[in-house]
Amino acid sequence: MPEVTINRRSALLGAAAVPLAASLATTTNSLAAAPMQSGGGTPFARFKTGAFEVNTLLDAAVTRENPQNIFGINVTPDEFKTVSDNNLIPTDRTRFYFTPTVINTGSELVLFDTGLGDNGGNIKGALAGAGYTPDQVDVVVITHMHPDHIGGLMSGGAPTFPNARYVTGAVEYGFWTKEGAEGGGGELVSKLVKPHAEKMTFVNEGEAVVSGITAMEAFGHTPGHTIYMIESNGDQLVLAADLANHYVWSLAYPEWEVLFDMNKEAAATQRKKVLGMLASDKIPFVGYHMPFPALGYVQAREGGFQYVPASYQLQL
Ligand SMILES: [Zn+2]
Repeated sequence: MPEVTINRRSALLGAAAVPLAASLATTTNSLAAAPMQSGGGTPFARFKTGAFEVNTLLDAAVTRENPQNIFGINVTPDEFKTVSDNNLIPTDRTRFYFTPTVINTGSELVLFDTGLGDNGGNIKGALAGAGYTPDQVDVVVITHMHPDHIGGLMSGGAPTFPNARYVTGAVEYGFWTKEGAEGGGGELVSKLVKPHAEKMTFVNEGEAVVSGITAMEAFGHTPGHTIYMIESNGDQLVLAADLANHYVWSLAYPEWEVLFDMNKEAAATQRKKVLGMLASDKIPFVGYHMPFPALGYVQAREGGFQYVPASYQLQL
């Protein structure tokens, strides 16, 4: 028996030494050998809100394990599994999309959030896909100051958008730059946001960035998390930033606690309030972490909401 084992191993090693392509060529030469493609994907999507041209930009997408620890930290594993099974999604992993939006109002190019930056983001590539260069961006709006939203403000130590002015929530900026914020994420804000302070203005509830783009305070995910109502020629769109970050777990169950919500109760209250408005007024929204192209509608259902991905409703 030992000899058999040795012979078998030798045979296997011998086979392994043959280049894979050569061994395939002898057996599959009648098949087209197109390579498997694991990457790819569309880096931007374009649609209209009134006269505004809106582009969602895929900055990055990553897979994370153990999603219950992120999206359902106050429910039982059984409940999490049942809901996931019923919605045909796995419980061992989830996919995060990072989706800045750029809006051409006809007079200004306004970018909302900047992606992961030097940490794996591709904001410049996605912008280029949509037909724009960083120096064409007139206004950069920051919804909140988590790393995946401010990461692209600087590239290689220089401003990514050299001609832009900047807008963010007054409460958000105050929180991350107050004394003692260093060490809790404040150091990243110092590095990426503060260099633009002289070109930055601050908005509160109901104040405009430009005509047709209005701040809506939705505090909870962060202390000054701000979303935006886009209005043009009677059409509306809400840029909901990180209001609700999973299309099933956070929409169907807005009270499920989310790891990254700094004030979990306030975040749940905002989810119910804003999603309720989107559902009753039939307003489409862009969710920063929704499955790309990150554009959808909301319908009310028992205890929560249902995400309805947009198809062609808003296409040019
Ligand atoms: Zn985020």
